[in-house]
Amino acid sequence: MILQAASLLKKHYGYDQFRPMQAEVIQCVMDKKDVVVLMPTGGGKSICFQIPSLLLPGLCVVVSPLISLMKDQVDALNSNDIPAAYLNSSLSSGEEENIITKCLKGQIKLLYISPERLVQEMNRLLTKLPIQLFAIDEAHCISSWGHDFRPEYTQLKFLKEHFPSIPVIALTATADKTTRRDIVKQLNLLNPEVFVASFNRPNLSLSVKSGIKPKERIKDIIEFIADRENEAGIIYCLSRATTEKLRDALKAKGIKAGCYHAGLPSEERNKTQDDFINDKLQVVCATVAFGMGIDKSNVRWVIHFNLPKNIEGYYQEIGRAGRDGLNSDTILYYNIADLIMLTKFAQEGNLAKINLEKLRRMQQFAEADMCRRKILLSYFGETPQENCGNCDVCENPRQHFDGTLLVQKALSALMRMEEKVGTTMLIDVLRGSSKGELIEHGYNKIKTYGAGADLSFAIWEQYILQMLNLGLIEIAYDEGFSLKITESGKEVLYSKRKADLVQPQIKIAEPIERKAKRGKYAEQSTGNDLFEALRKLRKQFADSEKLPAYIIFNDATLREMASEKPLTEEEMLTISGVGQHKFEKYGQAFLTIIHEMCYGISAKTPKVNTYEETLILYKQNSSPKDIALKRNLSVTTIYSHIAQLYLKGDISSIEHFVSIEEVDRVKTAVNAIGKIEKLKEVFDFLNAELDYSKIRMALACLEKNGEYNTGKN
Ligand code: ADP
Ligand code: ZN
Repeated sequence: MILQAASLLKKHYGYDQFRPMQAEVIQCVMDKKDVVVLMPTGGGKSICFQIPSLLLPGLCVVVSPLISLMKDQVDALNSNDIPAAYLNSSLSSGEEENIITKCLKGQIKLLYISPERLVQEMNRLLTKLPIQLFAIDEAHCISSWGHDFRPEYTQLKFLKEHFPSIPVIALTATADKTTRRDIVKQLNLLNPEVFVASFNRPNLSLSVKSGIKPKERIKDIIEFIADRENEAGIIYCLSRATTEKLRDALKAKGIKAGCYHAGLPSEERNKTQDDFINDKLQVVCATVAFGMGIDKSNVRWVIHFNLPKNIEGYYQEIGRAGRDGLNSDTILYYNIADLIMLTKFAQEGNLAKINLEKLRRMQQFAEADMCRRKILLSYFGETPQENCGNCDVCENPRQHFDGTLLVQKALSALMRMEEKVGTTMLIDVLRGSSKGELIEHGYNKIKTYGAGADLSFAIWEQYILQMLNLGLIEIAYDEGFSLKITESGKEVLYSKRKADLVQPQIKIAEPIERKAKRGKYAEQSTGNDLFEALRKLRKQFADSEKLPAYIIFNDATLREMASEKPLTEEEMLTISGVGQHKFEKYGQAFLTIIHEMCYGISAKTPKVNTYEETLILYKQNSSPKDIALKRNLSVTTIYSHIAQLYLKGDISSIEHFVSIEEVDRVKTAVNAIGKIEKLKEVFDFLNAELDYSKIRMALACLEKNGEYNTGKN
């Protein structure tokens, strides 16, 4: 069964392997068990129910909360030759009729439906359809504990009553245990199998910049974007006003930026979202409302302009970057003003205690001096042993020092001002400012006035954040946000104990290695002509079919094409993300561009002497990989040259490339299949266990021995 699943994965999606957990989940669903799947965003949840729906005879009904997402998902499925449709309020009655008829006739494999519609139809339409599986996407929406509760989801608890024998698969990217238990309970799942994938997203870099004022953040962000031409990103802000201000600042620099928040009319929001998805906007400045409804796989970076409210939200938001698996960057800015604002919000709701605690964990993450990924993952219950090497702390290990004296300066100033001032005044006093208000209060007369003049405002702010995090001071939210010295603070002040501080990060330059890593992509995305040409072609298809570009091929697929430079259909089909259907639709056009750009010819046959060039290098004992590198061709191509050269007799033996056992396996495949049109048939027959180069070599051996005939020679 799993072999069949793997061949569907290759045929429809063009992927060679399942990601961790996908195969196990599929097996369980096929065994008719109820299943709960927890996987991070981008982990590949959809395939867990899409492949079973292809394997099963009838229909899979998918409950999804967002209308805009349904359309994209259905478009993506159709583009992979999987018949899918959706039912929601955006359709006309004619369109609906049409879809229902198709479902009844068994012409649809996946039917997406909104929760409220599902509830309406439970006694009507659904009882007539040949349903084999219910998939509940974004299942955390059912839990009032979760961060995205949707009342209409609670009705789904009747699903099991109505359809006790139809298995349910519930999927979410929310990891917290309460929500997880709640999903099982609310959906009345029967002894479900629960799969929890690792929440690690190693392709996302993590960095935090603390103590930076909004104005400087904007400057910083503009520089950051200047380095990332054409790379899409999202900037999350706390307030609507900030999103607009930021958008204006970016636009003034010629950056294509839009803004998105709940206060804008829905047409405007939809337009921004569509323009972003279709690469017409590079940047969206948004409140947290943005992103739920998008499935754009090539978001290359996410910035938090302010501290997020909790780690769950933060992780979900940064998770919108890099869904295609390519390296992507995330930055979080914050300062004390953010902290004050968020604490105020958290205190207001009726879940104040929980929310404050969650905010505290967020703050600890932001102030951490150890690998940030370790902290994040431990929050989700995982315990990685190694430092990640892809966060600002790993790349720039923090240096501790005895900060007792510094802390004493600050605390003694606070004490002398009777703990009545906030951060700004405290820093102004320490730095010996002559601001009017300071003088009016006579703070210029206290002993520690100017005692910290050697340090900048930003550095002092970072120290104060550390002191807050160490519990040496606290903010009195009910007394005008003045700073109070805690008991442990007093111990430091009176030299009863020391305070360990961390050297502040001034301006964190992008680490050279990361720049180099990214440079590779930047070069591929901007400098590389082939990539650009492929991208243009993709855009043409996207425009003419009115689809987002990434549904045609995602960035990872285009990049692989640009680096592998496939020349033939077989080679093109080895590119991850090129399935049979997409090849038939777009493959030839992309191959033509590659031929033209790489070989300066517009037709199908490669230059005659291309074989000779390979032969010369081969005779110099270069490996196929080296030859590929030297010739700037793909390794697969070189293997096909070697096979031809072997058949022509220019190369005497290729046995070192393929074992007798492997040749035997290919022989079995050839005997079973009969006439072979494409290498892929053999590849699939062997369950993708032999790569194309081996298959090609084996076929050449068989042909040479007269055991196989391509009919070409
Ligand atoms: P999620 O719903 O968990 O956020 P998706 O199902 O949208 O994630 O998958 C994220 C991306 O990963 C999609 O572009 C998808 O096509 C791709 N993907 C999923 N499974 C695989 C796989 N086995 N190999 C390669 N890419 C995959
Ligand atoms: Zn790290």
